[in-house]
Amino acid sequence: MVKCVICKNKIEETFLNKIIGTYVNKKSVCRSCQTTYKIEELEEKTK
Ligand SMILES: [Zn+2]
Repeated sequence: MVKCVICKNKIEETFLNKIIGTYVNKKSVCRSCQTTYKIEELEEKTK
């Protein structure tokens, strides 16, 4: 199970086991946080 490092919510996965979200600094970020924060903010939060 993959969790978002920012909001700690579970990240859903597609049937191809790809997360519905993204990776920043090799950490998983959910789609919701991905759209909420700018990339600079995501990089800061995933340090
Ligand atoms: Zn999140």
